Amino acid sequence: MRLDVVSIFPEYLAPLDLSLIGKARTEGLLELAVHDLRSYTQDRHRTVDDTPYGGGAGMVMKPEPWAQALEDIAGASVAAADGAAPGRKPILIVPSPAGEVFTQRLARELAEEDHLVFACGRYEGIDERVLEWAAGQYTVRPLSLGDYVLNGGEVAVLAMVEAIGRLIPGVVGNPESLVEESHSDGLLEYPVYTKPSSWRDREVPEVLLSGNHGKIAKFRREHQLRRTAARRPDLLDKLDVSNFSKTERNVLWDLGYAVVDGRAVRRPGEPSGE
Ligand code: SAM
Repeated sequence: MRLDVVSIFPEYLAPLDLSLIGKARTEGLLELAVHDLRSYTQDRHRTVDDTPYGGGAGMVMKPEPWAQALEDIAGASVAAADGAAPGRKPILIVPSPAGEVFTQRLARELAEEDHLVFACGRYEGIDERVLEWAAGQYTVRPLSLGDYVLNGGEVAVLAMVEAIGRLIPGVVGNPESLVEESHSDGLLEYPVYTKPSSWRDREVPEVLLSGNHGKIAKFRREHQLRRTAARRPDLLDKLDVSNFSKTERNVLWDLGYAVVDGRAVRRPGEPSGE
């Protein structure tokens, strides 16, 4: 997979040299380039922002440096493809608090792509016409990290690249560790423990020391459901539970849920808790 990141603070992306993503780059699983938006400006002051039409606080990122940068990157993408997978547009990810929320499902979808380009906004964001214009060469995806406002897109890009990158085969050493993670099946992960088994008067749940794999799996499943009900009931509301076993349905019942038409529905007056 090829990744291009455009930012006025290229140094902000330095952590992408580290850890598993850095290793994936060294091993050629990920090709990543960071571009300085200011190098696509034409004026002496390397200006990337201007006052907003219509008035109001803050500055807006000027369209032309973005067009120059995105044209350059799209051109390199076409040259690199040279006959391979013709017609497939690169994806332009525009981090924005006004975007679709970035989820594990989207990370999985984007991990299948050949070329992702990230446009890091600053100030009040990028002139809207850039997104309309870019749709000629890119599939444009405004994506939000969550319902809060950051100062710039760089932190969002670090999070997205890590979430997407670790799903590319070979990036995480043991692919098994991706299977039971939070959000892999719509639930949160169960609690995890390591040695020592007794620590500051707290014991690891006995069943995890039993070596009985069936009981351990049952314990973990139950705690996945308990934790999700307590911390993220919105996830349970969205889950398809039509294939849930009797044991799983019993856990849901204990947590205050009944199964109705394949959905977990809160029973009136029943609090949910971990
Ligand atoms: N005026 C914009 C609004 O209210 O939608 C917020 C601009 S914010 C101060 C500057 C930049 O930070 C955005 O262009 C975007 O790149 C990034 N950003 C801020 N919050 C974000 C979030 N929740 N997810 C992704 N990117 C975000």
